[in-house]
Amino acid sequence: MRCPYCGSLDTQVKDSRPTEDSSAIRRRRVCPDCGGRFTTFERVQLRELYVVKRNGKRAPFDRDKLARSIEVALRKRPVEQDRVERLISGVVRQLESQGEGEVTSEEIGALVMEGLKALDDIAYVRFASVYRNFTEAKEFGALIDELTEDRLDEENAQDGTGDGG
Ligand SMILES: [Zn+2]
Repeated sequence: MRCPYCGSLDTQVKDSRPTEDSSAIRRRRVCPDCGGRFTTFERVQLRELYVVKRNGKRAPFDRDKLARSIEVALRKRPVEQDRVERLISGVVRQLESQGEGEVTSEEIGALVMEGLKALDDIAYVRFASVYRNFTEAKEFGALIDELTEDRLDEENAQDGTGDGG
């Protein structure tokens, strides 16, 4: 595994153990060249998954990207990492077990929303707002008002990033 810091190919595994739900193996690695430490996960992949975007283009499904979007929605929310991991794994398993190995971004969004709804109201609304791209902002406006008070404004003020997708 290449070192993400210096690019050395000579990294060593220091520790290797299953995650809490045993769905993955977590390996702690260290790079002897720069001393950098990082973690990798080994997971079951039932099948190759492709995402069909709205413009019809196919792209390989990216679990990390899904995890990041969920983490953004859950930022500063009191939800345990294990539950987040279970949500992500559950979504991926559902995607893997349906269709022909192709899923639409709508299907992914719908599954994540279902999962977040059960996990955390505010994360759900945040994700829903981004996922629906604010085109249905009115529909969610009432929900957001109800659940978040001024929390979302603070968040938005702090990170006005957004990579344009
Ligand atoms: Zn290194």
